[in-house]
Amino acid sequence: MLGISNFEYIKFFLIRKIEYYGRTTHGVNVLISIPPLKTIESAMAVATASPASDARMVNAARFVGSEVFRREAFGKNHPLSIPRQSGVLDLCGMLGWFDDQGIHHCSPASPEQLARFHDSDYIEALRSSEAAGRVEPWVRERYRIGTMENPLFEGLFERAATAVGGSMLAARLALEGGVVFHPAGGTHHGRPDRASGFCYFNDPVFAILTLLDADRQRVLYIDLDAHHGDGVQDAFATDTRVFTLSIHEANRWPRTGHLEDRGGGRSRNLPVPRGFNDSELDHLIKQAVLPLKQRFRPDAMVVTCGADALGGDPLSRLDLSNAGLWSAVEQVVEGVECAVVLGGGGYNPWTVVRCWSGLWGRLSGQALPDRLPEEARLLLRGFECDLIDQEDVPPQWTETLVDEPNTGPVREAVKRLVQAVLD
Ligand SMILES: [Zn+2]
Repeated sequence: MLGISNFEYIKFFLIRKIEYYGRTTHGVNVLISIPPLKTIESAMAVATASPASDARMVNAARFVGSEVFRREAFGKNHPLSIPRQSGVLDLCGMLGWFDDQGIHHCSPASPEQLARFHDSDYIEALRSSEAAGRVEPWVRERYRIGTMENPLFEGLFERAATAVGGSMLAARLALEGGVVFHPAGGTHHGRPDRASGFCYFNDPVFAILTLLDADRQRVLYIDLDAHHGDGVQDAFATDTRVFTLSIHEANRWPRTGHLEDRGGGRSRNLPVPRGFNDSELDHLIKQAVLPLKQRFRPDAMVVTCGADALGGDPLSRLDLSNAGLWSAVEQVVEGVECAVVLGGGGYNPWTVVRCWSGLWGRLSGQALPDRLPEEARLLLRGFECDLIDQEDVPPQWTETLVDEPNTGPVREAVKRLVQAVLD
């Protein structure tokens, strides 16, 4: 997820519009990458390139969700007022990807459960503000709610608490063995005493706490969102049972997570340059993340898989394909008996919904179609996004599920990260 001050919010909104118009006007694709239409051959190759090789894990994949996440949220003119969870539920449903077990429905975490990480006065401020339908100025100042960044909206508390309940449920299911996907989770900026970066609570923290409660002694948290997983790193800064690792865009909000930041020895941060491509992600996964994982020997994992590192996201400038991200997730959870995979940021409804739907397809061992069925294409064509002009939506965002891989050279700036985090 991403957070910004009010001023920055207005600025990015305007600038994004201008940038997109600029790109359209000049016909130069410098700000976002729109991959070319994929061929049947390449799509087949992508779809079968690296399915999770552990049959037990594939068979055990489970999906956590709730109808709560279908409701309108964040009001108007907010980057998250786009159909993310409803799109994933609908698209996966249309593809027949929920088996007899279907979706594991989650309930909201109770205030008492939330108080394990969040301050009681903050929880109460959220509840009472929603009940009153307004935020007192001092509450806005103190808890950062009722701002353009973290707006007050009807159903806010239930939605945020259900994301936490979902991550707790996902962790409990994962403890039975396998990988559990909860795409409405991933609010990794949430702080004990305030909202931050569109996040009111911090559900990844609760997934990790649930694993620790079950006596897991080495929980590895990997954050692939375009923004630094600051809230999670700080939450476990003094807990030797948790190791956090974040790959995110350098010099991007919240501007923490520098290469030198090791969170007291229990974290690693890999800030990557603009234009970060599939080959570079794969390089970091194989050369840095997997060796660190081997060193830590996790007995449980939580992965935040924000979709804002994909090419075409309006709020960041990384350039991954969805298949590149899926491959990274599969590689990091492979061989781990207990893994929770969460969503996170992602502000382009077409790329987000395709990414998380396809990730569920891959984790649950489905055959990914080359071209989406008509019903699914109609769903995607019906999306709108204030940050992206309709004329800038390329056909593959509405016709297909799998992006063309965005391979390329591994730049020195990326190679240098490897040794720096392993030393
Ligand atoms: Zn993000």
